[in-house]
Amino acid sequence: MGESVQRTVSLNGISYRWPPQPVVVVCIDGGDPAYFHRALRDGIVPHVESFMKDGFSAVGEGVVPSLTNPNNMSIVTGSPQSVHGISGNYFLDPETGAEVMMNEPEYLRSDSVLAEFSRQGAKVVAITAKDKLRRQLGRNFDMTGGSINFSSEKADQCTLEENGIENVLDLVGLPLPEVYSAELSLFVFEAAARILERDRPDIMYLSTTDYIQHKYPPGSTEINDLYAKLDSAFGRLVALGAVVGITADHGMNDKSKPDGSPNVLFLQDELDGEFGERTTRVILPITDPYVVHHGSLGGFVRVYCSDGTTPAAVMSFAGSLPGVEAVYDKASACATFDLPVDREGDVVVISDAGTALGASEAGHDLTALEGHRLRSHGGIAERRVPFILSAPLSREYATRAESAPLRSYEMFDYVINGVL
Ligand code: ZN
Ligand code: ZN
Repeated sequence: MGESVQRTVSLNGISYRWPPQPVVVVCIDGGDPAYFHRALRDGIVPHVESFMKDGFSAVGEGVVPSLTNPNNMSIVTGSPQSVHGISGNYFLDPETGAEVMMNEPEYLRSDSVLAEFSRQGAKVVAITAKDKLRRQLGRNFDMTGGSINFSSEKADQCTLEENGIENVLDLVGLPLPEVYSAELSLFVFEAAARILERDRPDIMYLSTTDYIQHKYPPGSTEINDLYAKLDSAFGRLVALGAVVGITADHGMNDKSKPDGSPNVLFLQDELDGEFGERTTRVILPITDPYVVHHGSLGGFVRVYCSDGTTPAAVMSFAGSLPGVEAVYDKASACATFDLPVDREGDVVVISDAGTALGASEAGHDLTALEGHRLRSHGGIAERRVPFILSAPLSREYATRAESAPLRSYEMFDYVINGVL
């Protein structure tokens, strides 16, 4: 339904036409451009290679902090964090002093392109690897027109009422994947291909998990196996008649010392030593219930000051520490990275590509790395992401893409409005 009707959807200043063919946006969690770069060299991603030649390819920018939820929400709302409000997994409520999780849908301040289209009668499908992301992505979906929203993590529990689909395991023909596995991500694509074939939805959004990218570098057996399978899934979606746009929520960098041990700056310990205990509070917005693969160590932290400790003093001290790339006060962080002021710390500290930031050493369980080198994200160094389309751009969008840095949150605009 819908193709013959001249309808548009407007959201956050962008007008989206009705997609003339199914549109699929893929967000590869932790899909640093280096992975595609190496996979192309190794000749294991022939479909992506043809998209780059016959469609469009660039390296774009995600939002900072370069974390999963802020970027997924930016992509699906077509807006920066100042608009949709999700600037991390946690923020500190200044009134209560409590750390508040932002995973709940009520913290979102914008509707998504997906929800708007579903309310206009489009068939919209959003499939995620992890269930925590599904609930924010599915916020305000109208399921009555055949829209679907589920996670591979809970694919065995889908109901028509909540998810718009049931018996997913039968449809996909695969067992329920383990939560920490490559299969959790690959299940998303197998389900997407079956649903595209069966329902021919107007818009699909597919989001994976970065469990494998946290563990393995470009060129490793595990990565090449995953990328070869992703590539054949992309080819299958295009063969079924979809235009595919591929991006990532953030990149990924090795943050280990030459001997393989994690290269971590424990900022709370440093600040306590300089200013005294309980005069600052370090909040790690990467922290979430699924910490096994990064030990809660990322590239971006927020510091809250009290007891006469000033942001200026913290910035001056933190900025002098080895491994720190940049420090900002609240106003300059919000202006630089388009962040919501009421959820920002007094000071933002960002580490360089080779360094991770933690709070207190005692609070991090590094045994969770299971002997792997620490790979993580969150800072400016991990904001670079692929921006690849399976079809060529119109002259207008090709010109626009050359004139300014491409933001990953422009992907729906490009894939819906920008292709011929
Ligand atoms: Zn991620
Ligand atoms: Zn991650």
